[in-house]
Amino acid sequence: MRFRAELDPLAPYEPPLVSQEAAAERGADGYVKLTSNELSFGPLPEAEVALAEALPRANRYPDRHAASLRESVAAANPGTDPARNVLVGNGSSEVLFNLLQLVERPGEVVFPWPSFGLYVAIGITLGLGTRKVPLAQHHEAKPEALLSAVTDETRAVILANPNNPTGTYLTLEEVRTLADSLPKDVLLILDEAYQEFVSDPAYHGSHALALEKENVVAVRTFSKAHGLAGFRVGYGIASYRVADYAERVRFPFSVNLAAQVAATASMRAREKIRARAEFIIRERERVQEAFRAAGLNYIPSQGNFVLVETGPEVFEKAGVLVREGEALGYPGWSRVTVGDSGENDRVIGALS
Ligand code: PMP
Repeated sequence: MRFRAELDPLAPYEPPLVSQEAAAERGADGYVKLTSNELSFGPLPEAEVALAEALPRANRYPDRHAASLRESVAAANPGTDPARNVLVGNGSSEVLFNLLQLVERPGEVVFPWPSFGLYVAIGITLGLGTRKVPLAQHHEAKPEALLSAVTDETRAVILANPNNPTGTYLTLEEVRTLADSLPKDVLLILDEAYQEFVSDPAYHGSHALALEKENVVAVRTFSKAHGLAGFRVGYGIASYRVADYAERVRFPFSVNLAAQVAATASMRAREKIRARAEFIIRERERVQEAFRAAGLNYIPSQGNFVLVETGPEVFEKAGVLVREGEALGYPGWSRVTVGDSGENDRVIGALS
């Protein structure tokens, strides 16, 4: 067998410390798992009730269009038409994948770097060139730098906002300026996996921009603030043309029944999700304050994680598993997910 040569660099993902991670997920061995920017709480009770109700219907295919899910997303984002402006997917990963399937070949996709590694994997898989634009001095994406990387070959720009792994972000005004300056045939994908954790009011409202501009799409997830990472469900808000084409390439039934009902119930109870996100924001301050007090260099974050300049072993010896910065483009650093109070106490305790 011969395979496409460009796939060779895509080494299978090998998570480090797999056995400890598994133990931490079971709550065994005294480890806590703060490696993957998950929420430390389970789904909302509303989501659990919806799941229990759906279980006996597992013999049936789910709603192919995921209409209730789309309606709940539209209701949370004023001005959005559930049937025309909402994308759904098996995690926001699938939404990103589907979006990049739409653009013309040959072509390339531009994104700040370091950022979420999946952009490279998807780009390569789909036969697109990947152009990485280095983050600026304070680890933030610079719209001017992105714009100067755009060429005739550019089909899409992906902006993780806030960015993973740095937690840095652009305000909505900056994003709007970027959108205004981009050629109209370049798709601007705002990857907002962590948007619920942004405390700066100058950030909110990207859905309005996505509805207003045909080439802008906001991509979000139920994996983080909603605590539903295990069910794999994400969504996007976009112009009708983008949403229409994204639906054409979507795998039938890619959002399964459990994911549909749990995510719909969770979105309908979004005030509770907001309260949880506010808790994480407060805890993020506490963790950052502890890093500051310990004299550690860290990047002020708007996500549910903080990138700090110290090795993962500092945390591991206290039973806290974090993502080693090496794998994220930050050798010598660690990305620490903000967990529940007890987990964050462990993080802080590891510093003394
Ligand atoms: N975007 C970013 C920036 C992320 O960090 C992640 C998850 N780590 C995702 C997208 C994908 O999340 P999911 O597929 O679970 O929605």
